[in-house]
Amino acid sequence: MSISSAFAYEKKVGIFYDERFLLHDTGPNHPENPERLIPVIRDLKNNDHISSNTIWPNFEAATVEELNLVHTKEYIELVDRQISQINNSRAYLSTGDTPISKHTNLVAKLAVGAGLEAADQIMAGTISTAFALVRPPGHHATASMGMGFCVYNSVAVVARYLQKKYNLKRILIVDFDVHHGNGTQDIFYEDDSVFYFSVHQHPFYPRSGRPDEIGAGKGKGFTLNVDLPKASGNKALIQAFKSKLKPAMEQFKPEFVLVSAGFDAHEGDLLGQLDYTDEGYKEVAEILQEISDEYAKGRTLYMLEGGYVADNISRSVTQILDVLITSSQ
Ligand SMILES: [Zn+2]
Repeated sequence: MSISSAFAYEKKVGIFYDERFLLHDTGPNHPENPERLIPVIRDLKNNDHISSNTIWPNFEAATVEELNLVHTKEYIELVDRQISQINNSRAYLSTGDTPISKHTNLVAKLAVGAGLEAADQIMAGTISTAFALVRPPGHHATASMGMGFCVYNSVAVVARYLQKKYNLKRILIVDFDVHHGNGTQDIFYEDDSVFYFSVHQHPFYPRSGRPDEIGAGKGKGFTLNVDLPKASGNKALIQAFKSKLKPAMEQFKPEFVLVSAGFDAHEGDLLGQLDYTDEGYKEVAEILQEISDEYAKGRTLYMLEGGYVADNISRSVTQILDVLITSSQ
């Protein structure tokens, strides 16, 4: 046996999860709670096909310097101060509807850190692609304002980190959460190096994301919003990816694909009403992997955003992981 064949291996898919994500306590009856993640992790670990084709690396909390790639120093200090003051009770961030408690700061920094480690491992080629199953979500957080259950905008920090550390010039962020990622759009609105594509329900929280919001300045044309009425279903979702995203990417040619993967547009979700199914998410993952394989050497990182029915998240994440596993073999 030659040395090269002894070390030959098929790249696995990374799953980035830390039990400390469960420590972010949002109080009784809040939809964004640890129970939405526990069954997902259990199901993935019990699935032989997933288990044998994935690795679950460790990672650290993001540093202040890393958060500062996107978030202002003032906002990072505000989060530190407000969370340190609440002891064993619960409160809301003064900037918006984001519940905070004793461990929220650590957990929010870990969520970002999961994405950073996943990005490093994908760039190093130790894994093919990854799914970071994090809490809290991030895409509503702007540079200076947490809102919509979000503290730090994990996917945005990962995009800036990839640019700084690896000198990537063109990054695509796809967002299929039922809500528009106003924070992500805002952060990159005048930027032509990060393309933001969102498909979301309208009218709905946070009310932004109309089709005429296309970016500004040199970022004009690098934001693409598709808003859908409730009950639109898979057909409208797939149509948006095929008729809007694919042609846009023929021009943009992304070097890395980041996905704000919310599952609150799934049929039966507690908040969203777009009625996608597991198969819809699978088809989206196939389209995204085609784009990623064509332009980005397959480099794709999904990060969990919303989704409030654990069984739906579990089945849809499994479908997406199946696509990632198949594409890496
Ligand atoms: Zn959402």
